[in-house]
Amino acid sequence: MTDYDYDLFVVGAGSGGVRAANLAANQGARVAVAEVRHFGGTCVNLGCVPKKLLVYAAQFKDDFAAAAGFGWTLDNASFDWPSLIANKNREVERLQAVYQHHLQQSRVTIFNGKVQLLDAHTVAVAGAQCTAKRILLATGGWPFVPDIAGKEYIVTSNDMFSLDKLPERIVIVGGGYIAVEFASILNSLGVDTTICHREPKLLAGFDEDIRDFLATALRKQGIKILFDCDVQSIAAAGDAYNVRLLNGNTMVTDLVMYATGRTPNSRGFGLEQLGVALDDNGAIIVDSHYQTNLPSIYALGDVTDRVNLTPVAIAEGEALVNSLYAMQQRPVDYANIPTAVFCQPNIASVGLTEAKARQQYTDIDIYKTEFKPLKNTLSGKDENTLMKMVVDHATGKVIGLHMVGADAPEIIQGMAVAMRAGATKALFDSTIGIHPTAAEEFVTLQQVGT
Ligand code: NDP
Repeated sequence: MTDYDYDLFVVGAGSGGVRAANLAANQGARVAVAEVRHFGGTCVNLGCVPKKLLVYAAQFKDDFAAAAGFGWTLDNASFDWPSLIANKNREVERLQAVYQHHLQQSRVTIFNGKVQLLDAHTVAVAGAQCTAKRILLATGGWPFVPDIAGKEYIVTSNDMFSLDKLPERIVIVGGGYIAVEFASILNSLGVDTTICHREPKLLAGFDEDIRDFLATALRKQGIKILFDCDVQSIAAAGDAYNVRLLNGNTMVTDLVMYATGRTPNSRGFGLEQLGVALDDNGAIIVDSHYQTNLPSIYALGDVTDRVNLTPVAIAEGEALVNSLYAMQQRPVDYANIPTAVFCQPNIASVGLTEAKARQQYTDIDIYKTEFKPLKNTLSGKDENTLMKMVVDHATGKVIGLHMVGADAPEIIQGMAVAMRAGATKALFDSTIGIHPTAAEEFVTLQQVGT
């Protein structure tokens, strides 16, 4: 029997890699993890966590505006970006330390440095060479920026978390999660914000009603949205930039941010030389057990470019380790994964959109409501909430839930459990609401169509 230095060598200390490393070590495996950048990966450092902190900062604008309607007088409220970033950095550093601490507690060996795969069982990292029975690649992704003239002037979400100061004007290219979230944050923090998106609607893949409602809500807040808009080139113009569009128009702005998707981090550490199969986008191809075409090499999370969400990477890490070291087959159920976009207003969804449901079911029923939330009766804010339910007519089962409005992610998280448990519309209806809440509308929804 070959004697390896480790049972499992994990490349990448993001959400999925760290969960797999800790769990495997706790099962008695000898585990090492290598990280080239920061512990916690995208989620902790350049994604979910710092983004949500910026979202909280941005929401104060609405809260201050609403306060007067509730009898408060707020004088001289002002915002200081460097303070927010310094406080955010402190929290991120705390979390990085927590991640490292948990690994140490689990007796995982930590390497700081870039890994090079030498063969199917050997890695070189930080001047050392180690062998492992299995190697797990959990290297995540990185913002993708298309090749256009002036690419060097573009910033991505990675840069937004450490800007010295906020720009007066920004053009955000893209219409997905990151474009919409950052547009909301920056607009609320006083930046003149324009979204430039190549499609006629934001948020591909979301329910059409949600997409339409969102564009209206964002525009009401003052965000400019240019649909069917493609950038041809970007040129520096003093301290600003001229953004030339394919339709011949030009915009002048202080910052151009691209949020045009992410590329798997699969290049430059020896995968191609070893013959690990990648798809056209560079994603590592794995089977249902996260195994690549080289049996000792596994991959999970964003580097496999399937469902690029932190909780999914964590679930994949757990499923892999349970099957390898605990002899328990608990595969990840990829159906009905709830998701949220932390724009203002929040969006959250689980299950099928109306369009997808129509493709998969013979008859569906649509329930929908749009209403002014109670808080907005005094706050004066001109923003409604939208809720939508898609039901399989034959069984009465709820197969899709969608919401735009305050706390939508908090509400949909609970609804997702009910939906996954097979709840029917009748079960929702027989559930007593909590009054007065927005969530209670989900148990009193009226049919609007079939
Ligand atoms: P998305 O895939 O969500 O959106 C990318 C956007 O960029 C799409 O609107 C796409 O348009 C557009 N686009 C792609 N290529 C080009 C191009 N060459 N020129 C112009 N536009 C282009 O990616 P994001 O970068 O917003 O986010 C990456 C992923 O990170 C998300 O998909 C999600 O999985 C995850 N994420 C999750 C969050 C959450 O859970 N709240 C928050 C942030 C990110 P088109 O629709 O035409 O392809």
